[in-house]
Amino acid sequence: MVRMYACGPTVYDYCHIGNFRTFVFQDLLRRYIKYRGFALKHVMNITDVDDKIIKSALEAEVPIQEFTQPFIEAFFEDMAKLQIEKPELTPFATEHIEEMVELVSTLEEKGHTYQSDGSTYYRISTFPAYGKLSRVDLSEFQDTNPTDADEYTKENPRDFVLWKAKKEDGEASWETPLGTGRPGWHLECSTMSMKYLGESFDIHCGGVDLVFPHHENEIAQSEAATDKPFVRHWIHSEFLQVEGEKMSKSRGNQFTLRDLIERGCDPLAVRYLLLSVHYRKQLNFTFEGVKRAESALQRISDFLLRVGEVPDDQPENPELTGQVARTLQDFLAALDEDLNTSAALGALFELIRSTNTLLDRRQVGAANRDQVLGLFGEANQIFAAFEAREQGVADDEITGLVEQREQARRDRDFQKADQIRDLLLEKGIILEDTKAGTRWKGAG
Ligand code: AMP
Ligand code: ZN
Repeated sequence: MVRMYACGPTVYDYCHIGNFRTFVFQDLLRRYIKYRGFALKHVMNITDVDDKIIKSALEAEVPIQEFTQPFIEAFFEDMAKLQIEKPELTPFATEHIEEMVELVSTLEEKGHTYQSDGSTYYRISTFPAYGKLSRVDLSEFQDTNPTDADEYTKENPRDFVLWKAKKEDGEASWETPLGTGRPGWHLECSTMSMKYLGESFDIHCGGVDLVFPHHENEIAQSEAATDKPFVRHWIHSEFLQVEGEKMSKSRGNQFTLRDLIERGCDPLAVRYLLLSVHYRKQLNFTFEGVKRAESALQRISDFLLRVGEVPDDQPENPELTGQVARTLQDFLAALDEDLNTSAALGALFELIRSTNTLLDRRQVGAANRDQVLGLFGEANQIFAAFEAREQGVADDEITGLVEQREQARRDRDFQKADQIRDLLLEKGIILEDTKAGTRWKGAG
């Protein structure tokens, strides 16, 4: 069993597609782990309490739960649109206050904390390994966060808050043995990851901006509390950029998935675009890029439809049989090599090119048809972006009905499936079930 933790969203706004680059990558990783035959337990927290949330809820004069609820719902809707599988667990910070207080108490007993102005801090000088992940040079430290009003209460500017005392009336807070207040952000992740995955686990993911200080602080809290190694492998993905700058809410250069859908972008093309560049390379977002992703998906779709039409009596082409097998090997070798998605996709496109030439010459057999469709089926278990769809299938109502019918067929509810087929026929739509999936065309 692979145990994996990913830092989830802070739900004070809609996630932008930079955040989703990170989550789409984690989805690819999760799908690949499962594809390779491992059982997986993937936990992603939802940060539903932090300074920004408390401030915004206070301004809106609503409880924090009421403030975060629509963003939590939007997050899961956007995840589904991007074909991101739901992690096994998505725990909420506000539901783990008790466990967080326990972790702080353990750190307190072991002498890693101090109190100042009602808040509890972690004293990093008590954890000699501090800095081992990010290799931060503590001697060169300059305060990078001078706007934090709590800074002056700390002994060392790198010390970080574990429990933050309540400051203003009306602020969300919890009454605990540590005082009335709220947890620090780093504390949430140590607590929820260890609660659900154990004191030591396999993989911890996040965007590169989390290496320091967030993940460094998670290590300091967890290892000081348990005296065990916290995480075996850290996997950090690079930023989505816009014109050379990180896409972020604070810079105001963000696009949400909703913005892109409104502008007519296909969410699957967004997914494909985000996956098409290796996760450790920066990716510059442009609408031109989304268009290119849409045409790449269209190319795959056209190809799958064309291959699906090879008739049953066409003899096998052994050379193509060998090429399909080699393509699968190359595809998997690329993913085994630190999840090199662009090389993996490159292998698929090479096969498309050469098979198209063979299709022109009618040298693709029925067995090859099944091998090629099988290969794309496998690749799609990981990429979850390829579909054989007719050009111009933009009518939501029809695609919705076709999907419902396919679900009914998967559920073996054939009566319902037939009803939907009839309903579509009334709308002038004829369905055709091919090996590449269900296709439809206008009866006219
Ligand atoms: P947040 O909601 O800010 O806590 O971020 C959620 C996740 O998105 C974290 O793993 C961040 O590292 C990641 N992230 C934030 N901005 C970007 C970006 N521009 N590109 C890629 N990942 C990002
Ligand atoms: Zn985290």
